[in-house]
Amino acid sequence: MSFWFPWRDHRPPFVYPVATPLRAVVFEPLFRKSVRAAFVDPAAPDAAAQVRRFGPAVLAGRLSTLLELAPRLETPPTHGIVVFTAEGGRCLSEVGRDALWDAYQAPAFEQVITAEGALAAWECEAHDGLHLAPGAVATRCAVEDALCACGKAGRRAIDPRIAPSFNPGTALPSLLVPTRIESEARPIAT
Ligand SMILES: [Zn+2]
Repeated sequence: MSFWFPWRDHRPPFVYPVATPLRAVVFEPLFRKSVRAAFVDPAAPDAAAQVRRFGPAVLAGRLSTLLELAPRLETPPTHGIVVFTAEGGRCLSEVGRDALWDAYQAPAFEQVITAEGALAAWECEAHDGLHLAPGAVATRCAVEDALCACGKAGRRAIDPRIAPSFNPGTALPSLLVPTRIESEARPIAT
């Protein structure tokens, strides 16, 4: 069986926040399909039934999607919630984290993704900042290079408010100003 809009091979794989891959239901159609990662359209009338049939250990989606779906889902995920944040946008707040805990009683792991689903930064099981992908930059927060408690090396953004991004050139506003003012000023023609 084939669909007119099939899963595309160039889509990035869904990245798990824990060492052992677990079955995950992903509410974003950005990721490569696998036996362990199923896409469920959160707008589908039978979305809750699809989740129940797959029996995921992890749910992954945007904060608003996860909170809207929670009352319809009969069984919470056994291991955790992955919350997608847009690169350059606002990071998951403590208020959002508390709301997720109230809804699912499962730990939340933030993942910063691009519009195409590429992973810019992620929260590990140590919950100590966001690990930065190669080429990702974090602004207005400390960046540490010390070994994380999860055992992984590499840069981490500590307590960021703004989600790390791959493209710092467009993340900051810029103002074009003339570099030189003519010494012989001329009146502007009208
Ligand atoms: Zn870590």
